[in-house]
Amino acid sequence: MGVQEDPRPSGGLHGLYGVQFAGQSLYSDDEAVKTSIMDSSTCESQEGVGSSRRLLIRRLWQQRPPCLKPIHCSLSCDKHVGETIANVVTSLPFIVLGLQTPRKNLNTALYANSLIGVGIASSLYHTSRGEIRKYMRWADYTMIATSTLCLSRALRDENPKFLMAASTLLLPFQPLMVSAIHTGIMEVSFAKRASIEPELKMAHNLHKMSSLLGGALFIADDVFPQTSYLHAAWHLAAALGVSTCNKLLE
Ligand SMILES: [Zn+2]
Repeated sequence: MGVQEDPRPSGGLHGLYGVQFAGQSLYSDDEAVKTSIMDSSTCESQEGVGSSRRLLIRRLWQQRPPCLKPIHCSLSCDKHVGETIANVVTSLPFIVLGLQTPRKNLNTALYANSLIGVGIASSLYHTSRGEIRKYMRWADYTMIATSTLCLSRALRDENPKFLMAASTLLLPFQPLMVSAIHTGIMEVSFAKRASIEPELKMAHNLHKMSSLLGGALFIADDVFPQTSYLHAAWHLAAALGVSTCNKLLE
């Protein structure tokens, strides 16, 4: 493995939900065992069934599969120089897409710039090594979340102001949640537009296929961390998905 980082980093951004290291649960195994022993003794004497249920939920949460943990492509991508080159090369289409995105108004211009930012942040993350890498990863995920927020704004100016303000505030701390919410808004807009504008049908079908492929590759990248180039393939599927979204802005 080309890049091996300390699996228990301290300080900085570590510990924020969005930058928690995959494979590391909120509790260490020992702590989890201690917690469960303490919890089981107190629950019997004090709260009974309610505590047991909470304990069961906590145990299930701790034992959830890696694909349900917040950050993917954790420590295993960029295993060797070839994979780093593939990851950087497959980040470049986002810069090209950003340059091609129609800039009709401030919102679309912000979205176009955010795509260029995604390509740059991704390239920097994949080429970074050592202590700075975890900050670069945070920048990479935050930039992706920023672009989903900008796209949702560019597509739907009538998004509730509270949602947009809350998303902006949450960007640095919960990038995955912001990405999920605004990707959802974009998917609904795309499906609605495709249902009334037949010329968007083709782009929407391509978008659905690339989203499914991207989702499968995202999970595969996490489940098979030793398999090279899965992350680069995910970059390509995501870039294809983004290119179809540009049809909505034309
Ligand atoms: Zn990447």
